[in-house]
Amino acid sequence: MSIQLTGITKRFGAFTAVDAVDLSIETGELMALLGPSGSGKTTLLRMIGGLEFADGGSLAIDGVDATVEEPHARGVGFVFQHYALFRHMTVFENVAFGLRVGKRKPKLPEQVIADRVHHLLELVQLRPLAQRYPNQLSGGQRQRVALARALATEPRVLLLDEPFGALDAKVRKELRRWLRDIHKGMGVTTVFVTHDQEEALELADRVCILHQGRIEQVGTPAEVYDMPASAFVCDFLGGGAKLPCTVLNGFADIAGLRVPISNRPPAPGPGIAYVRPHDIELLPGSEADAAAARVTAVQPVGPELRLDLDMGGQVVEAVLDRRTHGHVDLSPGTAVGVRLKRANVYGLGA
Ligand code: ATP
Repeated sequence: MSIQLTGITKRFGAFTAVDAVDLSIETGELMALLGPSGSGKTTLLRMIGGLEFADGGSLAIDGVDATVEEPHARGVGFVFQHYALFRHMTVFENVAFGLRVGKRKPKLPEQVIADRVHHLLELVQLRPLAQRYPNQLSGGQRQRVALARALATEPRVLLLDEPFGALDAKVRKELRRWLRDIHKGMGVTTVFVTHDQEEALELADRVCILHQGRIEQVGTPAEVYDMPASAFVCDFLGGGAKLPCTVLNGFADIAGLRVPISNRPPAPGPGIAYVRPHDIELLPGSEADAAAARVTAVQPVGPELRLDLDMGGQVVEAVLDRRTHGHVDLSPGTAVGVRLKRANVYGLGA
């Protein structure tokens, strides 16, 4: 099912939480709503699900207006951060719940319910735990039950609100892969709220970046990361050091260095350049296109060497490969030559 939002707006009193948002979500797409706390992600998701009604604009599902339709009529499945499983029901009963209640007539035969639940538990790899109660499961297992329960009713749209937010980093990572695979297999249109950049970039087909209730950019993970449309998006996606610069025709002058601009270049004039840590290179000796810098801190982290460099009073972070730089003396105080491979540049006031 495709979803079209046109000028969707939600106010709470005088405060506008979602401000005239236009967004099209394609059939079978996995769309992440990404943004900082308070940017309107959850409110937007709840409007798509019908848990909240818009104050302005319209929403269509597969081209049919659904702006004031109740949640059950929209055919959506929800998964929230706090699993909300029924504590007194087993895993099996939790998943079967959606098939037993609701407006379904005639009721499904028990055998059909059992087959469907077992199939779903197979899918979320929890079949052996069917008779356990939620308090006998790990957080990750509970979220898999919540997802199986949401999928049981064969929703047209799956809505997930920070579903892995309460889990530790390793489990989160596993569940992301797993959700990606399940989504590929089932192809249900999915909208996923997260404030975690890595999660959005890893999981989504497209990412919608929100800021103060408005869309800053919509694009594939590569598009938003490589070509951030605004300084906000760049900064939010780990923009790196923020350096004053002068925008010239086709490049930026940063501390006397001529640096290629990776995003859409702004008009010539004063600007701000973001340089990501991986885009900073150390050069041996004093080469023409290098700036002088001094190491102020060095920290090996797994395969990486993280450096803080003082470049004429500006501190920038660089990340180097430890295998290729491990033998070089980079102790604090060492003078080095620095090259900036590329930068995202924005005009002042952008
Ligand atoms: P988070 O990541 O913190 O959950 P979010 O991006 O999902 O944030 P929303 O929950 O959509 O943000 O909230 C957007 C804004 O609307 C916030 O400033 C919030 O305080 C406000 N808001 C949300 N729900 C209500 C409500 N029921 N009444 C009043 N204000 C609300």
